[in-house]
Amino acid sequence: MTIDFWQETYAAKRPGCLDLFQRAKDCLAGGVGHDMRHSLPCPNYIERASGARMWDLDGNEYIDYGMGNGALLLGHAHPQVIEAISRALAKGYHYGQDHPMQVQWASLITEMVPSADAVRFVNSGTEGTMLAIRLARAFTGREKLLRLEGHFNGWHDDVGRGSSPPFQNSLSLGIPTSKIDSVLVAPAELDRIDELLERNPEIAAVLLEPSGASWGTVPLTVDFNRELRALTERRKVLLIFDEVVTGFRYGSGGYQKHARVAPDLTVMGKIVSGGMPGGVVTGRRDIMSLFDFNGEPHHDRYERVWHMGTFNANPLSAAAGIATLEIVKSGTAQNHANEMGERLRTGLARALNERQAAAYVYGEASMFHIYMAGKLGSYSKDLHTDDATKLKSIPKSLVTGLQKNLQIRGVELLSYTGGVTSAAHNENDIDITVDAFAQVFDRLLENDLLAHLS
Ligand code: PMP
Repeated sequence: MTIDFWQETYAAKRPGCLDLFQRAKDCLAGGVGHDMRHSLPCPNYIERASGARMWDLDGNEYIDYGMGNGALLLGHAHPQVIEAISRALAKGYHYGQDHPMQVQWASLITEMVPSADAVRFVNSGTEGTMLAIRLARAFTGREKLLRLEGHFNGWHDDVGRGSSPPFQNSLSLGIPTSKIDSVLVAPAELDRIDELLERNPEIAAVLLEPSGASWGTVPLTVDFNRELRALTERRKVLLIFDEVVTGFRYGSGGYQKHARVAPDLTVMGKIVSGGMPGGVVTGRRDIMSLFDFNGEPHHDRYERVWHMGTFNANPLSAAAGIATLEIVKSGTAQNHANEMGERLRTGLARALNERQAAAYVYGEASMFHIYMAGKLGSYSKDLHTDDATKLKSIPKSLVTGLQKNLQIRGVELLSYTGGVTSAAHNENDIDITVDAFAQVFDRLLENDLLAHLS
């Protein structure tokens, strides 16, 4: 194994994390709780977080741009959310029954999200897309799904290919071939999508992240979404927006309100439940009515969509969700997070330009991404690309070099080369972050991981 140039400094400040990882490897399968957290020589073990900051087991402080996998638009440990959860907690944390907060939460969502006629609660974004796909199949009587290259829609078998290159290959061992075959994966090109819809009349729905793959790592435009809406309507295929990340980051009504595009179904997670476990499937009344009971035994057994879930709309997630949505409803929190996002993107672009580095910064709202060309790879002078494979294939050594060197300097990303800002980040946080990135760009250039433009 090669020793990376950052390893010694990184490890010297993390004796506790290194030690805990040795124990974790014995009792945690794969050593971690989420594949994305796998990181050598050790994962980050976080002990506490507040506002825009997090502290690890060894006391290292981070300005956090992961924000709970994007779930914390208001920042960590927001006082109003903590208060709401505490109040709910004192009254019992799980009833296995419906409760008044669930109705309040659902009506807030239907009020805020333009296409949301009715809501069904689930426990995660993954459960949300799983249920939305079942609904689309039930409503159309068709079984196939069309996804776009690179889009992440959870980890269940119904989305068993398409998220990571090579996009036609299964994402995991253990996914039945029949499931893989039920998913068609297209590049984000309207002509290509139209052709696939024409050739495959068994497609029930198109499922996508409207911002573009992986919260905009492979960006899409509002116009693309509008045209896709028209196309799916013409082809009588349902359009499902996965707004698990974009939901409320693009404003109080999600990406769909920002773009003025009405999907048939929408999946939300993360922010909708205030950073607690949860998710939502919502959409058109006629589709959502597939959940309705009418008391007629044949109908209730065979003509509706079946959906269970012990913890659906649990009181703690409901309390956090309501408290968060009451704040994000006005759009002020998003405006601040967006301003911080813009300040960061501008600062990073300046730092890259000053160094003539073969990289560029992009992103919308409160999200930022960096595309970087590796020294050893070939790249054209015009780096800008919409190629999903390229945007998702930055050399691993470069991505790890960026992440680890930023951690050494107290900055944590969400994943890959990007992150999200929140209402808790301030200008000082951003300026410190830009300085840290600038130092890291220098190290990456010096160590031949990042190419110069010339
Ligand atoms: N869709 C998108 C766009 C996501 O980003 C995620 C999570 N990163 C999911 C679905 C799955 O959500 P969860 O992790 O809550 O299952």
